[in-house]
Amino acid sequence: MRFELPQAPLQPLHLPWLASARVQVAVLRLDLIDPLISGNKWFKLRHHLAQADASAAPGLISLGGNHSNHLHALAAAGRRFGFATAGLLRGQPQETPTVRDLQALGMQLHWLGYEGYRARHQPGFWAPWQAQYPGWHCIAEGGGGLAGAEGCALIMQQAHAGLSAIGWAGYDAWWLAAGTGTTLAGLVLAEAGGHTVHGALAVPLGYGVPQAVQALAGDHGYLLHEACRGGFGKFDDELLAFIEASEQATGVPLEALYTGKALLALRDKVEAGYFAPGTRLVFVHTGGLQGRRGYL
Ligand SMILES: *Cc1c(COP(=O)(O)O)cnc(C)c1O
Repeated sequence: MRFELPQAPLQPLHLPWLASARVQVAVLRLDLIDPLISGNKWFKLRHHLAQADASAAPGLISLGGNHSNHLHALAAAGRRFGFATAGLLRGQPQETPTVRDLQALGMQLHWLGYEGYRARHQPGFWAPWQAQYPGWHCIAEGGGGLAGAEGCALIMQQAHAGLSAIGWAGYDAWWLAAGTGTTLAGLVLAEAGGHTVHGALAVPLGYGVPQAVQALAGDHGYLLHEACRGGFGKFDDELLAFIEASEQATGVPLEALYTGKALLALRDKVEAGYFAPGTRLVFVHTGGLQGRRGYL
């Protein structure tokens, strides 16, 4: 495939609460695959880029909020691989670091308001955009769906490729943040029952993530854990202090929407004795660091 980025490093994570429970964690640094196209969003976009390429689409169009990691990765990938991009944004025009990057990367922005954005799941939603951007490849919010999930199978291959360098013969399970659950579903499909995939939910249970994961990956091979701490994008002092302490101890940067909450939920499970001593976990660093400029 024409659309490749380098291998993500797999690094052992040293934290006191892991050592006392004798649980080993290696972090797959998807945040390091590229300076601009960060994290799981790249893997979710790969098949969309290939589809746009195959159909000779002039560009790609998708939706998101004004800190969206997905739109950021799309704009950067479009610039890198020679596609025009357009972004449909929630709310009123606003300047955020992310929005400034989208503009600098050449993405055409359209602000839909809140009302207009809510219509995104309605049947006729895409028609006017398809008329305005004929032949462009449309991507659902967040890069969800099967194309997104299938692109994430490569995350498993990348972890496997990094095992020997850290002296691991294998691993027992995965731990990662889940927003739409697409990345998690992709790993479940790739594992095909080999290892359990634990998803730390960055959104409340009522947002339909269990149903979305089930539709993509069935009933088995994964477990979902609540991790959103009162809502998507809600931060509390314990979370922020935990992120700071973890960054200082490990040198691995985290953000507060997904990766910080996922690691804190893991700590709570580990301290509660959820994982037997000797367990080896792959923690996926799903990236998203660009977004934290807007709120940290
Ligand atoms: C989007 C995102 C997620 C969630 O990925 P899903 O595939 O929607 O579950 C997790 N972490 C980061 C940093 C993200 O940007």
